[in-house]
Amino acid sequence: MQISQIIQLLETKAPLAFQESYDNAGLLTGCADWECSGVICTLDATENVLQEAKANGYNLVIAHHPILFKGIKQLTGKNYIEKALIYAIKNDIAIYAIHTNLDNIADGVNKMIAERIGLINTHILLPKPNTLVKLVCFVPLPNATKLREALFEAGAGQIGEYSEVSFSTNGLGGFKSSLLANPVIGTRGIREIVKEERVEVILPTHLQYQVVNALKSVHPYEEPAFDIFPLLNENQLVGSGLMGELPEPISEKELLILLQVQFGLAVIKHTQLLNQPVQKIAVCGGSGSSLITAASRAGAEFYITADIKYHEFFDADKRLVLADIGHWESEQYTIDLLFSIITTNFPNFAVLKTTVRTNPVHYFVGE
Ligand SMILES: [Zn+2]
Repeated sequence: MQISQIIQLLETKAPLAFQESYDNAGLLTGCADWECSGVICTLDATENVLQEAKANGYNLVIAHHPILFKGIKQLTGKNYIEKALIYAIKNDIAIYAIHTNLDNIADGVNKMIAERIGLINTHILLPKPNTLVKLVCFVPLPNATKLREALFEAGAGQIGEYSEVSFSTNGLGGFKSSLLANPVIGTRGIREIVKEERVEVILPTHLQYQVVNALKSVHPYEEPAFDIFPLLNENQLVGSGLMGELPEPISEKELLILLQVQFGLAVIKHTQLLNQPVQKIAVCGGSGSSLITAASRAGAEFYITADIKYHEFFDADKRLVLADIGHWESEQYTIDLLFSIITTNFPNFAVLKTTVRTNPVHYFVGE
């Protein structure tokens, strides 16, 4: 199997178009056309994880965090990033990062956190804007069914749990072809009027070219007429953070104990408890302090994330409880997620979860 086949699987689930603008997800070292000898799943592609890959004879490390994040102008091994990159390149190890694109899907990083806590009725906390477009196209009536099917097949017409969503109206299309054209209906140089169907479908922005190609491949006209409109609609399936609820309310202290047990925490930093039962909970793996306001607006009584700064803790302002459970700790089950995506789709392939705990943060909790 080629590395490209694994990349295709990962990007079908978490398209690169879903990553944030500052991110650098994708293939960072190595070549997509290499034969893959095995995969290590990790949060961080540090040098010791790459050594683990080599020791197993594996040449693909799939990491949540892109170790190559910013532009570099030298590659001299002066820091852990350059050391890892040099090691990967010298040993023909491919590093693939699946970062905010995996954060931004409903069954990604945050779903793993939600499952650990037992949240139900989960949905995206802050939908990502500009991820949907509307395609309107015009087709002769006898060709409409085939066209709709091709658009659906290419990924159009999905709204929440509904697929094959479209809207149609009938009308008259008119055109006059030049003397150089090859019209399938009518005569060159003479105005033609045709009974046509106006077909409207919604589609994810990143599938635009794929869907337009599908349209062109089945449309009978030499020059199909179609329009693409950007939409301001929220995409329920793509965005940051996850909101959900517990089946029954529990006390704040019970929730803290649940977090401690489920995430193996030595310590939890949190804001003042409000002495009320909690049921509505927001989560965001990794650095999620930018979502404090969104969590509060969505009615969360408790927001679980990491990397909250001193002044950001004040933002809770007794509206909700903020809990900082640690960056690595909050994302640790992403390794299981990556492992399960690959093993479910390639059951007999060599895949391992790293045994290296890459967390750079340690806690002294007394002796
Ligand atoms: Zn992270």
